[in-house]
Amino acid sequence: EMEDCLRSRLAIEADLKRALVTEQLEAFYQPIFNTVTGHLWGFEALIRWHHPTLGLVSPIEFVPLAEETGLIKSVGAWLVRRVCADMAQIPSPLKIAVNLSPRQLEDDELIEDITEALNSSGMDAGRFEFEITESTLLNNNTRSRFILLALRRMGATIALDDFGTGYSPLTYLTRFPLDKLKIDRSFISQMATRQDAAAIVRTIVQLAHQLHMTTTAEGVETEEQLQLIRKAGCTNVQGYLLGQPMALGDVVNRIGPEHILPATSWSATRSSGNDATSSHEFAD
Ligand code: C2E
Ligand code: CA
Ligand code: CA
Repeated sequence: EMEDCLRSRLAIEADLKRALVTEQLEAFYQPIFNTVTGHLWGFEALIRWHHPTLGLVSPIEFVPLAEETGLIKSVGAWLVRRVCADMAQIPSPLKIAVNLSPRQLEDDELIEDITEALNSSGMDAGRFEFEITESTLLNNNTRSRFILLALRRMGATIALDDFGTGYSPLTYLTRFPLDKLKIDRSFISQMATRQDAAAIVRTIVQLAHQLHMTTTAEGVETEEQLQLIRKAGCTNVQGYLLGQPMALGDVVNRIGPEHILPATSWSATRSSGNDATSSHEFAD
């Protein structure tokens, strides 16, 4: 079994190397909104792999493998170049959030890759938000702190992803240059049914506020959750209720002249064919 497992991992690793040069990777974009105004804030870039025989492979499956093998550096560099090129079709001031794995924050090449992608595309660095996880803070924290500071100096903002699920001490929130906490979906999904989950969300929002950070509620799937996170005072909101990750073409088709809501025009992707008469009311 172990041998089979190893063989298939080696095969996937070889496939992933090939994917990088044969255009099998694609960046999907999930819209993120301002909870109060309903305006579109920007998107999170989520990587997709169209495998020639396995079909669509989830990043949950191949990102950890790419991390272990070190391929994540090439994958990450590819994504940053793709995103910079794609953002030419997504008007400013819309932002783009990009996930960075702990491994990517271990070497300075990341900064070079990002600078190069920015220079060749002409994209403004201030449109970037980088999402890191708590494990990054624990890993090699002097090094990652240095790289995060460099990203910040370029004008990018830093968000702490999946907040509340990791093991990093709260003191790290003051030691690292962080602009935003992304509240993990596990809290959001229980908000409507469990008072303790709702209390945790409200407390995270207050904590962020006290530390001059903003918040994004992730994985909002129901109208009830949307109302609760608005009441809790979250800055941004993201989730299937308002829009799924989608290909660049779909994003470009949906961006209106004002780059704002209606959120319904984004969530329409969920149930294709349905022209989404339900409304996600942001205004009271
Ligand atoms: P993440 O960074 O926490 O991304 C959010 C994940 O939640 C995405 O899954 C997204 O499609 C999903 N999601 C968004 N809204 C909802 C919702 O309302 N309900 C539910 N159930 N799920 C929702 P995805 O695209 O499969 O990505 C999974 C993970 O893979 C990401 O989690 C991230 O950790 C990693 N990942 C994706 N793209 C990249 C990348 O370019 N680089 C790195 N390092 N990691 C990536
Ligand atoms: Ca993320
Ligand atoms: Ca997340």
